[in-house]
Amino acid sequence: MPEFVIRQIPTRQDNYVYLAHDPSTGDTAVIDPSDADPVRKVLAETGWKLTHILNTHHHNDHIGGDAELKAEWKAIIVGPRADRDRIPGIDIEVGDNDTYTVGTQTAQVFDVPGHTRGHIAFWFPTSRALFCGDTIFMLGCGRLFEGTPEQMWTSIGKLRVLPKETRVFCAHEYTQANARFAITVDPENGALTDRKLRIDAMRAEGKSTVPATLGEELATNPFLRADQPSVQQAAGVPGDAVATFAEIRRRKDHF
Ligand code: ZN
Ligand code: FE
Repeated sequence: MPEFVIRQIPTRQDNYVYLAHDPSTGDTAVIDPSDADPVRKVLAETGWKLTHILNTHHHNDHIGGDAELKAEWKAIIVGPRADRDRIPGIDIEVGDNDTYTVGTQTAQVFDVPGHTRGHIAFWFPTSRALFCGDTIFMLGCGRLFEGTPEQMWTSIGKLRVLPKETRVFCAHEYTQANARFAITVDPENGALTDRKLRIDAMRAEGKSTVPATLGEELATNPFLRADQPSVQQAAGVPGDAVATFAEIRRRKDHF
C-alpha cells in the first residue's frame, strides 16, 4: 500500500512544518506552513511540487506561509470550516465526519476545539500519520486559548482511540519542557521517567523528538491519562477525569 513520504521542517523558534508527499501521484501537501521560505527550500531540494496546504488552525505560526505558497504553486488551501473567516484564501472547508484526499491518501478530519475554537486534526490511516497541530504535543497538550478543559478533554478523546501505531506529528518541539512537568503529575510512571531520559539525550544532541507514536503518548503523556488513578491522585481529584485534566492544564500554565 502506498503511503506518504513525510519531511519535517523546523521553523521559527520551535515550530515543525511538514511536507507529505505521495510518490505514486506526485501530490504534495504542506501542513501548517508558518513561513514560505523554509518550505520553498525543501521543495527545491526534493523536486516535489506543492499541490495542497492543510491548516489545523488559524494562528500565524501555522498559516503565515499560506498566501505566498498558494500564489506560487496554485495550491489548494484546506482548513477548518469553523474558522473559514480567520484563514485567508481558504478553498476547502472541512470538519468532523469529513474526509479529504491528497493523492492516494485519504484523511479523516476531526474537530478538536480547545486550543482554538476551530481547531481540526487530519488523520491519514494508511500513512499512520496524525497531523494534530497544537492539540496534542509530545508529553503535553495545547494551551486553552479559546476552549474549556472539558472541550479539550473531549477533543483529545477523539484522537486517543486511534491505532496505537499512529505517528503523532505535532507542530512544536516542546517535549523537554513538557517532560519536566509530566513527571510532577505522574511521578510513579516508569515508562515516563525512562522516556524523559531518552528525550534529554536526544535534545542534548539537537535531535527532534517528534513524532512519537500514540501508544507512547498513551503510556506517558499525562494529558492523555487524566482518566488514570495515578494522575487523578496527583491532581487531587480522584474519580474525575475532566477535573483532573483541568487541574493539570492549570498547573502547567504556571509551571
Ligand atoms: Zn496555535
Ligand atoms: Fe502553534
